[in-house]
Amino acid sequence: MTAPLIDPFQRPISYLRVSVTDRCDFRCVYCMSENMTFLPKKELLTLEELDRMCSTFIGLGVEKLRITGGEPLVRRDIMTFFRSMTRHLDSGALKELTLTTNGSQLAKFAGELFDAGVRRVNVSMDTLDEAKFADVTRWGRLPQVLKGIDAAQEAGLRIKINAVALKGFNEDELFRMTEWCAERDMDLTWIEVMPMGDIGNENRLDQYWKLSDLRARLAENYTVTDLPERTGGPARYVRLEETGQKIGFITPLTHNFCESCNRVRLTCTGELFMCLGQEDNADLRAALRNHPGDDAPLEEAIRAAIRLKPKGHDFDYSRQTVDGRVSRHMSHTGG
Ligand code: SAM
Ligand code: SF4
Repeated sequence: MTAPLIDPFQRPISYLRVSVTDRCDFRCVYCMSENMTFLPKKELLTLEELDRMCSTFIGLGVEKLRITGGEPLVRRDIMTFFRSMTRHLDSGALKELTLTTNGSQLAKFAGELFDAGVRRVNVSMDTLDEAKFADVTRWGRLPQVLKGIDAAQEAGLRIKINAVALKGFNEDELFRMTEWCAERDMDLTWIEVMPMGDIGNENRLDQYWKLSDLRARLAENYTVTDLPERTGGPARYVRLEETGQKIGFITPLTHNFCESCNRVRLTCTGELFMCLGQEDNADLRAALRNHPGDDAPLEEAIRAAIRLKPKGHDFDYSRQTVDGRVSRHMSHTGG
């Protein structure tokens, strides 16, 4: 049997997040600038290369794949890739195939995703107000996303809403969004805004809405019970007793979650980032492209990269400057 991937801090690596494109049909203000320059197509892993890459990780013990981007559903023929991963679900090697999407293309693809074995989808949506939605996403339109969510639920996909907590932007929608999700039997996770990439003039310190404040506000209206559930990532969960709903908090800035980290991230160009908050990365594309038909060098490159996984990230807003900033965009590494 192949030895599983264990990093130097004895953390087993069982979760791979894969960015399949850096492109997107939205331009969210905290994620991209209005005029993004995207990578030339030849830099991207082909769908076949993505398959080989993911299959190698699965062979090394990765049990959960999350497909992200950019917007994964704008990558041409991406359903071919999802369908090719179904064989690993069928064999039992892969326990979960999932994706994070802005929802714009869900109406088109929900059925095919379900058929490929996807059961849960994270949809990013920061507001229920059409005008605010257009403001924050620049190019997005809320009704299209709502249609996508309807289609996904009809297709049998379980939806979790991810919202970035933005001070002065969606603070006033805390209860509205909570109730809307409860009515539709969807969980809701709030994400703290992170210092990623150069996105123009937006000031992240102004946008930063501390999730401990958000939680305290929730507790004014609901009975909030901590849940022991851990996913090996930065999310912590509570249950609202009145609705039975699960609310998540992703707090990389106020909470140190690194000790149980079980994940690595692959970019659409085949760089492996061992930590979202660090620049260290390994070029797996060379190991893959230089050895067609032989996965041993790729396996060794993966193992060598995992041996370099750092202990944790260095994001820190506490000194009121954006320390530990990482220059690449979230859409490059995959959120
Ligand atoms: N396009 C897809 C989407 O929006 O869901 C997938 C990629 S997107 C980069 C993944 C997640 O990262 C989204 O939930 C988005 O809100 C979040 N995100 C992007 N930039 C962020 C930032 N600077 N801080 C915190 N979350 C961010
Ligand atoms: Fe696109 Fe997602 Fe980034 Fe928004 S957060 S610009 S939808 S990649």
